[in-house]
Amino acid sequence: AKLEGPHTIRFFNPSMQENVSRRLHLESAMRNALENNHFHFFVQPQVDSQHHVTGVELLMRWSDAELGYVPPSEFIPVAEATGLIVPMGEWLLSEAARLMQRWQEDPLLRDLTVAVNISAKQFRHAGFVDMIKRLIQQPNVNASLLELEITESMLIEDVQNTVRRISKLNEWGVRFSLDDFGTGYASLSYLKQLPIYQLKIDQSFIRDILTDTNDEIIVSTILGLGRSMGLEVIAEGVETAQQARRLNEMGCAKYQGFHFGRPASPVEWEARLRESRLT
Ligand code: C2E
Ligand code: CA
Ligand code: CA
Ligand code: CA
Repeated sequence: AKLEGPHTIRFFNPSMQENVSRRLHLESAMRNALENNHFHFFVQPQVDSQHHVTGVELLMRWSDAELGYVPPSEFIPVAEATGLIVPMGEWLLSEAARLMQRWQEDPLLRDLTVAVNISAKQFRHAGFVDMIKRLIQQPNVNASLLELEITESMLIEDVQNTVRRISKLNEWGVRFSLDDFGTGYASLSYLKQLPIYQLKIDQSFIRDILTDTNDEIIVSTILGLGRSMGLEVIAEGVETAQQARRLNEMGCAKYQGFHFGRPASPVEWEARLRESRLT
């Protein structure tokens, strides 16, 4: 591919290069980005049934001078395969702690939860629990506002160890959410053992919820499961007011999606939230 200069934003096109060289290119560009602090993150609001913002999810972002904007769906799998997800994830968690410290000082923002995605490799890494402990022991970090989003796939291997780690972090106040719920293979017996507090209904079930009876059945099953197990349920990928209304009628009380706010820089959301909370 030809270079178009650092200010050209374009999507990395998988057909531009052979798979292997693309992967190598991505990997070295990511190492470089990590060293030079070129990764950043967006936040997306989560709202309650009154449509009040209760917290945010952090989503990693990366624009490379040569590759342009590379979506997480492209770079996260490479980061997982190469192990780079460990230092990248640690960087994001330290940013999350800094964000929480800043918000703790602001009466309008201090109650917001901060959710961070944790990949399987990161969660299983030997230093993970201690790393989180160091972060939440910093001054002005309220551990009970930190939520870690994990996926069902990481529950299949070594359930006991997973439960142990989650329980340890629970003791310190950190909460867990099961992301993309419904798409993985977690059996209900695993779910019963897991000390998590939230199920996050995958957006693939929300997209056609108004028209597809199967999706409606799946969503209402997950909501019932959450109720009977005492778990909070949040729907992600809520794009329209009609979807939000339908979910509310079905008993879902927490939502995330473009209808309530797109991912944007923390500074931008801070300003909007302060303004909405002042009035
Ligand atoms: P996810 O954790 O399921 O995050 C939700 C994705 O849905 C985000 O995509 C978000 O921008 C998008 N989204 C939010 N609301 C809507 C909506 O109403 N409609 C639609 N169509 N999409 C919506 P994004 O930011 O591209 O991230 C994609 C995936 O990459 C994430 O899925 C997550 O699995 C992964 N990811 C992102 N940041 C991180 C990170 O820091 N660490 C790890 N391990 N994975 C991350
Ligand atoms: Ca939440
Ligand atoms: Ca997530
Ligand atoms: Ca998700």
